[in-house]
Amino acid sequence: MRPSHHCLEERSAAGASELTMTCPEREQLLQAYHQAVSAYANAVSELKYANRDQFPRQFALADAARQKCDRLREKIDQHRVTHGC
Ligand SMILES: [Zn+2]
Repeated sequence: MRPSHHCLEERSAAGASELTMTCPEREQLLQAYHQAVSAYANAVSELKYANRDQFPRQFALADAARQKCDRLREKIDQHRVTHGC
């Protein structure tokens, strides 16, 4: 499945000119954000295999992964403001 198609459609609705513009930094940030979200999803998925003793540690790992997502989310927001893309 390629969720990027959906994003492209949403972006084209916002403005056709944005579709043709590519910014390497923006792509890098979005890639990193995607990876961070995947890592978060994996960490949450692992929770069901954690036993009572392992659970707090695994829960903390998931929290850390989520915070990384939040940081990247903010970076993307900042990039949009400073770059206008
Ligand atoms: Zn940019």
